[in-house]
Amino acid sequence: MQRQKSLFYKKIKCHCGQNFKFQKERKHNCYICSNYANYRKCARFVVQEELLLEFIKRYCEDKKIEFKNNNEFINSILNYIYIREDNSIDFVYHDKSYQVYSSNLIKYTTNE
Ligand SMILES: [Zn+2]
Repeated sequence: MQRQKSLFYKKIKCHCGQNFKFQKERKHNCYICSNYANYRKCARFVVQEELLLEFIKRYCEDKKIEFKNNNEFINSILNYIYIREDNSIDFVYHDKSYQVYSSNLIKYTTNE
């Protein structure tokens, strides 16, 4: 069986310097720091793919880009996602747009 790359393969950077890796949790597609998953050396912070896709889709709507649910598409628009130590999430796109998510703040900025 051919293994498919996860949607955000190598796109999610942790504040500790490692990438987040794909993991299934209770049937949800999730990502977790590989430093935690492999060595228990970082915080256990689980990010649901659904949440990330919400932001990506909002970006696509704004930019009038057709969203596609595959690795190549995500790579073509998204530069990286950065997980901060306080668990807020930065989305940085190739066109320099960015979004910030944290539990008490949702900030959305485009480069226009
Ligand atoms: Zn980490």
